[in-house]
Amino acid sequence: MSSPTEQDRRWLMSAIVLSRLSPPSPAHYAVGAVIVDRTGAMLATGYTGETDPHHHAEEAALAKLTGPHRADLADTTIYSSLEPCTTRRSRPHSCTKLILAAGITKVVIALREPLLFADCHGVRTLRAAGVDVVEISDLGYLVRDINAHLQLARWEIGGASLGGRS
Ligand SMILES: [Zn+2]
Repeated sequence: MSSPTEQDRRWLMSAIVLSRLSPPSPAHYAVGAVIVDRTGAMLATGYTGETDPHHHAEEAALAKLTGPHRADLADTTIYSSLEPCTTRRSRPHSCTKLILAAGITKVVIALREPLLFADCHGVRTLRAAGVDVVEISDLGYLVRDINAHLQLARWEIGGASLGGRS
């Protein structure tokens, strides 16, 4: 794991700001993601629910870079406000799998996924595959604030069911 650079902090802040665009939902976290190439140029952004209510942020950003003009993603970094998921109910591939398949070599996150919706092993899985995972946890409080409605729901009903709220 490398130390975060000033650039890393700046791009991660952009991902966190982007996560505020996610339509609020009791069923998922609001997450933002930014993909940046080796020269420091932004390639794509995404946020939860951007084009499809089930779209995760990383998935939404990666989807913009696939197709006939698929960018070379070797040596690129994805900044995500929350740890990439490893379990999806509504998709065949988790965001962690999509990141690995894209060949992204560095992942920067603010917060590990709390055990609320699914058991998440994003950091461990990515590191095991050789990806440089950098955690800038002092920005995690911003992600917690943006997702405060979920934490409240968890405290009130013990995480048994999040349906019917908001
Ligand atoms: Zn995901």
